[in-house]
Amino acid sequence: MKVDFLIAGAGFAGCTLAERIATQFDKKVLLVETRNHIGGNTYDYYNEDGLLIQKYGPHIFHSNLRDVWDYLCRFTEWNGYVHRVIAVVRGKEVSLPINLDTMERLYERKFTSEELEKYFEQHRVKLDRIRNSRDVVVSQVGEELYDLFFKNYTKKQWGIYPDELDPEVTKRLPVRFNRDTRYFTDRYQGIPKHGFTRMFERMIDNKNIHLLLKTDYREIIDSVDYNKLIYTGPIDYYFDYMFGELPYRSLDFKFETLDMEKYQNAGVVNYPNDYNYTRITEFKHFYFQQHHKTTICYEYPMAEGDPYYPIPKPECREIYQKYKKEADKLRSVYFIGRLAQYKYLNMDQVVAGALKLFEELI
Ligand code: FAD
Ligand code: UDP
Repeated sequence: MKVDFLIAGAGFAGCTLAERIATQFDKKVLLVETRNHIGGNTYDYYNEDGLLIQKYGPHIFHSNLRDVWDYLCRFTEWNGYVHRVIAVVRGKEVSLPINLDTMERLYERKFTSEELEKYFEQHRVKLDRIRNSRDVVVSQVGEELYDLFFKNYTKKQWGIYPDELDPEVTKRLPVRFNRDTRYFTDRYQGIPKHGFTRMFERMIDNKNIHLLLKTDYREIIDSVDYNKLIYTGPIDYYFDYMFGELPYRSLDFKFETLDMEKYQNAGVVNYPNDYNYTRITEFKHFYFQQHHKTTICYEYPMAEGDPYYPIPKPECREIYQKYKKEADKLRSVYFIGRLAQYKYLNMDQVVAGALKLFEELI
């Protein structure tokens, strides 16, 4: 088989590049995917009860990047979902990220914005330098809220406490002095109106793109005549683990379909201090689906299993840099996406990276 581009992985990175190359370059692409479906970790599908669910945990698109939003709008409309998260702390359901409502419910007293600012000013730990994910939190809200919301959730999620993780992990959550209870304040957010998978199907519906599922790119690479390879899988796998395995955090997803219309008060409910799972997702909230049943998903973090999260800590970064150096030596292989760049990237950052790489290929 002769193609211009061989692309390994049909997630956001792989599908965006396949679409761009096939449409703009009018070049032939072979898109190879190990799994039996496209969409990467954002894959959604109708389960046996007819409920639309996400196979790999809660995925909500959010971005401030206009070009990324405009690009994706070519393939889907959006359903207007605004993500809200509840955390169960001291037996109470409170809003996350921490905001005025959270504090009033938790401490059963009223605050004005100014009072809350003063409260945090009195409780926060004054630090000269933010060195890790613990520093990020205690320097804003103090030890007590750190213990209640972050310490144990992070230990469950990553297997280590926040003081061993780079600041970027807990920096994902802001602290608010108002009553904005949205999880993301980005200008653009939502879920594709007919699901992520349908959006990907439209992206790669092109005569120049040939899709091969259930195939590791290594199984076919010697029998394909191609000019360039775009690789979106784990970078250590590509190099046969020559510098050792990069650690990834994995998850075990346990699904339950219940004979009730609604199970919980938000799409995602976090349990920082109880149970072995971190959070429960109820997909109906995301898709506004009317159904007499509902499907929920528990997330149990694991050390072994499919690679879902690169681990943002200094030792891992060092190993990654060795692989990156090797990758930079290759002239016609491109490494892009969350696994190939070993970076905790959101969907929009992956699309932005893919569009940028496409410009460079031109
Ligand atoms: P992936 O989606 O991982 O796709 C890579 C694909 O490559 C996979 O399908 C894999 O099977 C395939 N592959 C790997 N190796 C090979 C090989 N050797 N040969 C062929 N194929 C191969 N982001 C957000 O913006 N909002 C969210 O709400 C959000 N929630 C998340 C929740 C969870 C639980 C997780 C794990 C991630 C979440 N993300 C979220 C991040 C989001 O999933 C990623 O940013 C995005 O999916 C990355 O796209 P990708 O193409 O880089 O990687
Ligand atoms: N986090 C936490 N408690 C929470 C929510 C988040 O400690 O209730 C920390 C945790 O370390 C988590 C990180 O903040 O991994 C980022 O949270 P986010 O919701 O962005 O995680 P993701 O959806 O990417 O798993």
